[in-house]
Amino acid sequence: MKCSICNYQNLCNFLTLGHQPPSNSFLRFEGLNKPETYYPLDVYYCENCGLVQLGYEVKPEILFRNYVYSTQTNKSLIKNFAELVDKIVARFKLAGKDLAVDIGSNDGTLLKGYLKYNIRILGIEPSNVAEIAIKNSVPTMKEFFNRDTPMKIVKKYGKAKVVTATNVFAHVKDIMSSVEGVKKLLSDDGIFICESHHILSLVTGMQWDSIYHEHLRYYSLKPLIYLFKLFNMDIFDAEKITTHGGSIRIYVCKKNMYPNSDNIAKILKEEESYGLYNKETFHEFAQKVKAHKIKIQEMLIGIKKEGKKIAGIGAPAKGNTLLNYCNITPDIMEYLVERSNLKIGLYTPGMHISIVDEKQLFDEQPDYALLLSWNIAEELIPKIKKLGYKGKIIVPVPWPHIVD
Ligand SMILES: [Zn+2]
Repeated sequence: MKCSICNYQNLCNFLTLGHQPPSNSFLRFEGLNKPETYYPLDVYYCENCGLVQLGYEVKPEILFRNYVYSTQTNKSLIKNFAELVDKIVARFKLAGKDLAVDIGSNDGTLLKGYLKYNIRILGIEPSNVAEIAIKNSVPTMKEFFNRDTPMKIVKKYGKAKVVTATNVFAHVKDIMSSVEGVKKLLSDDGIFICESHHILSLVTGMQWDSIYHEHLRYYSLKPLIYLFKLFNMDIFDAEKITTHGGSIRIYVCKKNMYPNSDNIAKILKEEESYGLYNKETFHEFAQKVKAHKIKIQEMLIGIKKEGKKIAGIGAPAKGNTLLNYCNITPDIMEYLVERSNLKIGLYTPGMHISIVDEKQLFDEQPDYALLLSWNIAEELIPKIKKLGYKGKIIVPVPWPHIVD
């Protein structure tokens, strides 16, 4: 294999999370009796450009076949999007005639933020979630974005002043085609804003559960700069934001269109001083991941030995990496509770833990609940307590700990 950004061939495989089913392939009851396909989940580091990436790419049509993630269910994301849109409109002086395009627009939550400004909007979303957006009056093209997509858009809507892609650049199979597409879609003074989980947070926060087949790449700023340079584009600003446990937001323009912010050098320096440009850092991280797994297993088995009940809170895709890698079966964790109607009634891929309505947590009061949606812990824990859950909550990262 070779690096998906710089084509370097001698990549370093520092972490192996075994074979796992795709994290969003939740099963219906009938599916429990059928074969399930597992794919390798191995992670590589490129010493040439600094990119961290998966070794095996599952076909997008398999990954996104039964995609059930909907932004509408995540309050902190909704807030992040609303703030981002307000900031974009103010900083880049967007006006009514301007077009804003969101790639991987999901249910249209981000784009809805532009409506109060009367800015023209368009979403690009390949999964079935596009239908929710269309129902919510967000114009959406139901397809994958690539170098050919802008032709269809520009003909009908003109070029875009702003293109956003939040948590999408990790997912796209052909990153070169996507960046080429973004460049074609942007007006000369257009801005591309892209948010991705920051590998610095992933490594420092032990967020290895964020590694799953949909996330092909894990970015630091350095390889992103490398990537856009290939297309004669500049990252002129960057900032660290809190979404998904710590993400990096970059602002990209066509060459020399906007002045460079000091934030770029600051973030590069921080990445370098943590050792993100050194493969030894990733070998050490992999050792910690193995120790983390054993700690989680010991903790849960210890609780079971006392005859206590354990449930799980949330059924995010990343929860399945944790459940599968740590081999947490239904005899350890009886069920997961969820608010999303899209997931209630389904079973987790691999471990086949049933997903039930959140109210079961309050009705049954299991002794412990493992918080799989730890990225929204601040919002979720007080809410669950307020709603009446009296048991103990286990937060798995950065190291498993109990919140009373
Ligand atoms: Zn590379």
